Amino acid sequence: MQTPYYLIDKSRLLANMEKVARLRELSGAKALLALKCFATWSVFDLMSEYMDGTTSSSLFEVKLGRQTFPGETHAYSVAWADDEIDEVLACSDKIIFNTVGQLARFEEVSCGHIRGLRVNPGISTSSFDLADPARPFSRLGEHDPAVIAPVLDQVSGFMFHNNCENEDFDRFDAMLGAIEQRFGHLIRQMKWISLGGGIHFTGEGYPLERLAERLKRFAGENEVHVYLEPGEAAITKTTTLEVTVLDTLHNGKNLAIVDSSIEAHMLDLLIYRESARLEQSGDHSWMVCGKSCLAGDIFGEFRFPAPLKPGDRISIQDAAGYTMVKKNWFNGVKMPAIAIRDLDGTERMVRDFTYEDFRAALS
Ligand SMILES: *Cc1c(COP(=O)(O)O)cnc(C)c1O
Repeated sequence: MQTPYYLIDKSRLLANMEKVARLRELSGAKALLALKCFATWSVFDLMSEYMDGTTSSSLFEVKLGRQTFPGETHAYSVAWADDEIDEVLACSDKIIFNTVGQLARFEEVSCGHIRGLRVNPGISTSSFDLADPARPFSRLGEHDPAVIAPVLDQVSGFMFHNNCENEDFDRFDAMLGAIEQRFGHLIRQMKWISLGGGIHFTGEGYPLERLAERLKRFAGENEVHVYLEPGEAAITKTTTLEVTVLDTLHNGKNLAIVDSSIEAHMLDLLIYRESARLEQSGDHSWMVCGKSCLAGDIFGEFRFPAPLKPGDRISIQDAAGYTMVKKNWFNGVKMPAIAIRDLDGTERMVRDFTYEDFRAALS
């Protein structure tokens, strides 16, 4: 298969899905895939056997969820537009409004639909303010119980999303406790509560049983059904970006240029100033660089067992979450194809991108 391509390994995906299934079974919570993190629908046949449906951040994600992922379709957006609301309602089981303003605006048209409201608890685990829903002046959800109380009869649930790659169960536990302190009297009047994404419960060593017990207790004490909305946790460590070295040079360091671009194909790493991850090691240090003309298009510095040369293949790890959904046509670099490694080990390409796709993305 011609590089560059994203390679989704179904056996690794299955391992994550089995943890999701175990958490659902032990806790009674439902798990919805957050499509903004991962929307590669070719593997939804497998994922939908272990998850209850999808949640979204836009009309297009709502439609994709409805069309490609059996089960429940939750519709959330930071702001719905007048011209999309009918289709959002037609394609979803629940609609979650970001503000009481949006709830009021669409009160009439959405009456009869299951409705929820996003609540911002003002606390989070994000260390980057770019991704912190509780940042000062945040627009993400209603934060004031006094503003929420008057609209309680119009909604049957709340959505909280304030975790971010949180691997620390005790921290989650403490934050849920704080949410119950502040919003418990409102929560107990609801039928369902979504606790959002960002809980890294598929990570190695995560105390899944303790999380399940806590969720079950939260549901029982407040008499609500609980939803989780995992994105990253569902697909973490399932996918690589397969690239080939095109050229090498030396400028104080050993440099290898590959047939991909971090700006175009793994943008999230650049935004959060993280290095890509590779699995090999060795005595030879090389900087792996993208082929766009952006000076800082650099995947990172890695060690290899031998000096790199044109034609060498490199697998960049963890290329599923917030990666495939953000690929772009910067510099006209060929977009990576999408391939799947099936459970029996065979690999097949499910999508390739051509010059025509590049041309069609603009006019
Ligand atoms: C981003 C997001 C998620 C998924 O978050 P992960 O960190 O990928 O698990 C879930 N719910 C909402 C509302 C989100 O904005």
